Amino acid sequence: MRTHKDHYINGQWVPATGSSLLPVTNPATDEIIAEVAVGSADDVDRAVAAARAAFDGWAATPVSERARYLGAIAQGLTERADELAKVISSEMGSPLSFARAAQVPLPINSFAQSATIVTEFDFEQSYRGSTIVREPYGVIGAITPWNYPLHQIALKAAYGMAAGNTVVVKPSENTPLNAIILAEIVEAAGLPAGVFNVVFGTGPEVGEAIASHPDVDLVSFTGSTRAGRRVSELASGTVKRVSLELGGKSPNILLDDADLNAAVPAAVQAAMINSGQTCSALTRLLVPRAKLAEVEGIAKAVTESIAVGDPTDETTVLGPLSSRTQQERVLGYIRKGIDEGARVVTGGQTEPAEAGGAYVQPTVFSDVTPEMTIHREEIFGPVLAIEPYDTEEEAVAIANDTIYGLAGGVWSGSTERAQQVARKIRAGQIAVNDAGMNLDAPFGGYKQSGIGREAGQFGLEEFLEVKSIQG
Ligand code: NDP
Repeated sequence: MRTHKDHYINGQWVPATGSSLLPVTNPATDEIIAEVAVGSADDVDRAVAAARAAFDGWAATPVSERARYLGAIAQGLTERADELAKVISSEMGSPLSFARAAQVPLPINSFAQSATIVTEFDFEQSYRGSTIVREPYGVIGAITPWNYPLHQIALKAAYGMAAGNTVVVKPSENTPLNAIILAEIVEAAGLPAGVFNVVFGTGPEVGEAIASHPDVDLVSFTGSTRAGRRVSELASGTVKRVSLELGGKSPNILLDDADLNAAVPAAVQAAMINSGQTCSALTRLLVPRAKLAEVEGIAKAVTESIAVGDPTDETTVLGPLSSRTQQERVLGYIRKGIDEGARVVTGGQTEPAEAGGAYVQPTVFSDVTPEMTIHREEIFGPVLAIEPYDTEEEAVAIANDTIYGLAGGVWSGSTERAQQVARKIRAGQIAVNDAGMNLDAPFGGYKQSGIGREAGQFGLEEFLEVKSIQG
């Protein structure tokens, strides 16, 4: 077992001020695979001071040079891609195949793309007689979750540093090991000391110290709505900018002319990917009532064919959930679904399996109605809720009947019709038919799914202040 007692502050590995360590557990085996330092408010002070001291120099560094550093980090991640995939798989249960296909390529893309996008970006423009200048905020605090652990760090650190800010990252206590490797890569890339810092530890201690720190200019948070609300409250004390990427309960509307044999397998995948631990997962499938039986039949067959098991087995499609806590939370939602009268089409596991590991069998519910908990609350597990509707207007109303607004999907034989419906969904990104994800498109939520956008030019602008100069 590996023990890691240091934070990465001011370009060096420095011992944590306290001596306590947090275990990192492999959710597939329940084995403790590492112990990592628990940071304190004092560690955050040190990291923020280093980031503050580095800011002026980094902000003044030519864009082309900042882009070169980001490219070097992308290259370093690429060289250690296999190791990173294994580490992410072991700390959060992602199948190796998915870690190689998504968990590692996504952050590589963010570092590489932020280098390109910042090089193309116009930091100055004329506007009705004024000169508009975009400038970095200063020190960014990045608080990140465990579901796509390195991707979530990269969206904040890569675009934040590209814009000229310096960064203090607090990775999830469940998944700190990938962040250690990222810091090693940053160190090897030779970034100036203090531009990128990592403080390990818990949300209530390190996360809250970052959110309330007077010398942090912007806090960028991804995670639960509960923690995001707390971060906002603390950040308000110093009126710092807040970006929040929170949960979702995203609808996927099958219109009555959709090709069900294409749409339903894709819809099952869009709900179950990463064991359902994806904020933009399309977890509610809205189906014309006349097509309900047919959709249920396809969804059942597709779901039962998903290979669930050992993440190190190359044929595995879904591994365990990220932790026993997450497993208990998801099994609780499945119990609630059953208790409140939803019909189990397949799955329906309500207790942990005796064999161990944080596994949950993929579950499909039907006859889910808007008053049920599994319609309203984010489950963050492999659970799809099928909700019947009678008219297109009703489908849109059910789709929008949520406090969230992160994502959505529409399936139709007519792309034009699907796009019309897409415009009526109150959410930040909508997939029409089998459109893939565009990693340069803005990503973020309406309503309680968050504030701000990540990725691409919009993600870069999130980390830039606007100044107007007259005369
Ligand atoms: P959290 O929101 O608790 O964790 C996300 C990050 O926030 C972690 O780094 C966490 O620290 C930190 N954090 C927690 N509390 C605070 C706080 N008071 N102040 C500052 N930072 C804090 O998510 P959970 O792990 O508890 O997951 C619970 C649910 O959240 C999931 O079931 C899912 O519904 C949702 N979620 C959504 C995600 C998304 O991508 N939008 C990602 C992850 C979860 P620590 O390391 O101590 O956990």
